[in-house]
Amino acid sequence: MPVLRLVIPTPLRRLFDYLPPAGMTATELASLQPGVRLRVPFGRREVTGYLLAVCEDSSIAANSLKQALELLDPTPLIDPQLIQLCQWATHYYHHPPGEVYSAVFPKRLREGKPQQHGAPGWTLTTRGKGLPKEALPRSPRQAEVIRMLREKPVIDNSEFKQQNISTSVLRSLRGKQLIETCAISPAEQSATSHPGLTLNAEQVSALAALRDSPEGFNCHLLEGVTGSGKTEIYLQLIEGCLQRDRQALVLVPEIGLTPQTLARFGQRFSANIAVLHSGLTDAQRYRAWEDARTGTAHIVIGTRSAIFTPLAKPGLIIVDEEHDGSYKQQDGFRYNARDVAVKRAQIHSCPVLLGSATPSLESIQNILAGRYQHHRLTHRAGSARLPGIKALDIRQQTLGAGLSRTLIDAIDATLTSGHQALLFLNRRGYAPTLQCHDCGWIAECSACDARLTIHRRRQSLRCHHCGDTSVLVRQCPTCHSEQLMAAGLGTEQTEEFLHTRFQQWPIHRVDSDSMQGRDAMQTLVNDIGRGEPCILLGTQMLTKGHHFPGVSLVAVIDADALLFSADFRGEERMAQLLTQVAGRAGRADVPGQVILQTHYPDHPSLLAMLNTSYAEQAREMLKRRQESGMPPAGQLVILRTDCANADHGEQFLQNLRRQSARHLPSDAVLIGPLPSPMQRRAGKYRCQLLLTASNRRTAQAAATTLVAKAEEIPARHGLKWSIDIDPQDVF
Ligand code: ADP
Ligand code: ZN
Ligand code: ZN
Repeated sequence: MPVLRLVIPTPLRRLFDYLPPAGMTATELASLQPGVRLRVPFGRREVTGYLLAVCEDSSIAANSLKQALELLDPTPLIDPQLIQLCQWATHYYHHPPGEVYSAVFPKRLREGKPQQHGAPGWTLTTRGKGLPKEALPRSPRQAEVIRMLREKPVIDNSEFKQQNISTSVLRSLRGKQLIETCAISPAEQSATSHPGLTLNAEQVSALAALRDSPEGFNCHLLEGVTGSGKTEIYLQLIEGCLQRDRQALVLVPEIGLTPQTLARFGQRFSANIAVLHSGLTDAQRYRAWEDARTGTAHIVIGTRSAIFTPLAKPGLIIVDEEHDGSYKQQDGFRYNARDVAVKRAQIHSCPVLLGSATPSLESIQNILAGRYQHHRLTHRAGSARLPGIKALDIRQQTLGAGLSRTLIDAIDATLTSGHQALLFLNRRGYAPTLQCHDCGWIAECSACDARLTIHRRRQSLRCHHCGDTSVLVRQCPTCHSEQLMAAGLGTEQTEEFLHTRFQQWPIHRVDSDSMQGRDAMQTLVNDIGRGEPCILLGTQMLTKGHHFPGVSLVAVIDADALLFSADFRGEERMAQLLTQVAGRAGRADVPGQVILQTHYPDHPSLLAMLNTSYAEQAREMLKRRQESGMPPAGQLVILRTDCANADHGEQFLQNLRRQSARHLPSDAVLIGPLPSPMQRRAGKYRCQLLLTASNRRTAQAAATTLVAKAEEIPARHGLKWSIDIDPQDVF
């Protein structure tokens, strides 16, 4: 008796065998293909499973196998290549297959609902068609719907919405059996491109090299300074891909998927562009997914999880700002979409292009090893020039909300000469600490090892780690003194200062507190785009994706905050961040300057930043990684525990270490267990065991052993453990 091997959405690292549904004939069984869904009993629930294989027999006795209830799809929803990718991810990340497949399927399909062919639309019923012209005199909106459907037999929801016809009007007509829903199959249209810019010499040779590279899988890194015209290369490369009737998948960082980016694609191509990001409704996401899957969408643009979108005819994968941390999922299924993209291109035998002004050391290592082809753009496109960078020694200088006299003068000069200034401060809120002057009490989060941030405008204290919010106290809870002080600096405080010092100029604060809603940022960017002199003050949000052509001064208010990171990637992140911030200046024909305020003007990382390019710094940093054996020179894996009891996590990892040590490859090294740097977060104590190895094969073998052993050790109540392959942060 054949058995069905299924992926089931559970946190268990295994597959499950089922007997075929009752009444399935041998012919039907023989024609079953991987990638179809089945409804199956699981424990006391019914769940949606995904077929991986039809097997001759099972390791489980036939009489204890359960029977699948129903086949949900006549044909597979995902193709063998995507299944292969999921299998690879399951093994490489040592993650439960059920959760990997859940990353592929949209909610509707995970819930076992039928596929929906085409977008939902409305049409007249026979009864509706027979309605006399002057019918429904008392419901003009309803009469309007009937009139519209007489002119155009099928209309989708969005078109009704544009005409201000609400769903309740449509529902009442359906109630009267005058109209009914139907599916609109999108018209197969072919994609066309509008002419691009005339490329400069560097762009020409990069594009030629990309186009001339042999067919099939190959991996490219486009390293181009900010504003060098990388996006223009993407667009022209996609044009070729569309001409060959293939789809292009473009990944952008979380923060990079701006209306500006989309508009640029929309202007260049007359094509169906599917957009996938976290702000979509389930229905919108499903629509985009189906369009990508059926090939109706020519271009798919999305953030991290879009890497698992099915594609009917993949031809090119692009990962923009490949160094960006948002490509790594930090909880649950901890994959890196950039690395998955490379694997996916390999499976599809298509090229993959990684682009960045500040490539990750991983990618640079791959260039040096000859695995990736390297293309460089060293100049800005058009007439724009790169800004000059200088460090400003603020030791002994009087500061107003973090700003030195020299910087204030520079802002003044920028504004009076008609330009814009961008100030970078990577800390939101008013101040990071509330302290009692009389007894030294400090406001701390009750659930995390962290201080609470003062948010003065909302009169609250907030934990930036667990989100906990409480009212801003006026009295010390310990000694009842009212001498409470705000220590340290946040954007709210600097904004307040700027308002008094630069009264006559507009000031825009840009952080996740001030920019609520998707449109807020776009409205601001449009505003700034008009070029009127103003001050932009913001966090990381300002540094990516947006072009501010009128900005001629960029200042980093607290460069020191970036200098002393305990993480092994600290200096890499600092160099990337500063280079990206600096890249906002002088984008058009306004030459820019960049000022870094610091107490450590002689710090080696800062000097490197001033005197060498990012490319040179990166190669130096890579040498240091080679000495320390840290990634990408060596391999790193972390096992983490998370538990309400402080000791249980450490005991679990001690146990794991003891039990696996003998079984690990000889060159795998275990470090720990150690408490995580922020040991307690959202009420849970966190502990970690690090594994380092000189090569990937050893790391994978060791990870397999660790996971197998960890699964054998009984976890105390409430203890959760997870494995992180190629982690982003250690400390
Ligand atoms: P990047 O993606 O490297 O930041 P973009 O492609 O966004 O660069 O280009 C930066 C700016 O330069 C954009 O305003 C773009 O329109 C312009 N640009 C790009 N290529 C050219 C070119 N060949 N000639 C003139 N302007 C260009
Ligand atoms: Zn006190
Ligand atoms: Zn907290």
